[in-house]
Amino acid sequence: MIVSEIIKIGSDLLKKNNISSHLLDTELLLSKTLNKSREEIIINSNQKVHKKNFLKFKEYLSRRSKNEPIAYILGEKEFWSKSFKVNKNTLIPRPETELLVDRLIKIFEGKQLTILDIGSGSGCIILSLLEELKNSKGIGIDISKKAVLVAKKNATKHSLSHRVKFLNKPLESFFWRRFDLVVSNPPYIESKEIKNLSEDIKKYEPRMALDGGNDGLDLIKKVIYKSKTILKVNGTLALEIGNEQINKVSKILFDNNFRIKHVIKDYKNNVRCVIATNN
Ligand code: GLN
Repeated sequence: MIVSEIIKIGSDLLKKNNISSHLLDTELLLSKTLNKSREEIIINSNQKVHKKNFLKFKEYLSRRSKNEPIAYILGEKEFWSKSFKVNKNTLIPRPETELLVDRLIKIFEGKQLTILDIGSGSGCIILSLLEELKNSKGIGIDISKKAVLVAKKNATKHSLSHRVKFLNKPLESFFWRRFDLVVSNPPYIESKEIKNLSEDIKKYEPRMALDGGNDGLDLIKKVIYKSKTILKVNGTLALEIGNEQINKVSKILFDNNFRIKHVIKDYKNNVRCVIATNN
């Protein structure tokens, strides 16, 4: 069979399974199978595909048709213009989180910081910050041992291992140092809302990275309390939060002597990130 026929078969199958990005996903899966760029494949659409590769492609296709996110099948996701390794133990990096990274880089450009990322997952936040803030270093912690393994691989992949440590420990643990910046994209979805998420998310992404307890604020509160003791004077706390959580989060921050310096809205105009200082 040739590339164009295979793309047609794949795209039709995914369409039948209600995958809206059926054509793009098919091209990406074929590009992974053949280990060639998507562009190269499209240009050479008359090229023959070996049976062995077709079978491999069909396996990927069947995973996607059961709603497995494309990022997990490909094993990577682009974040802040870099490719990050991901697997089912790490949340897939989101564009909203890039907004937080973008703002922090603008605020701290040229500064020398020690940064702590609480719930570092794939490591996308702290690694992107360290990539831009060349004189800074940091620690990422996560309660998932398997996520920590992924983050370490990403540190190596982006040649940042000498400036970052990823540790498998809970946020309640003791820290020997204080930080200039604490950043976190904690789980913030209300437990009862998880069932309303899309199939891709609720069937495949780690529940532990999504579920924020009864009001969705369990982890956000813990991160705020902990930040009081581990931030330096004049330190900054940067959080990603859920839709419509800003009022409650503002109150918790205020009650804990934080002052909000910036809020960031997402593409739908909801406040999704908050940056506060402890002075
Ligand atoms: N910090 C990681 C991210 O933003 C993981 C977040 C999480 O698991 N809640 O992708």
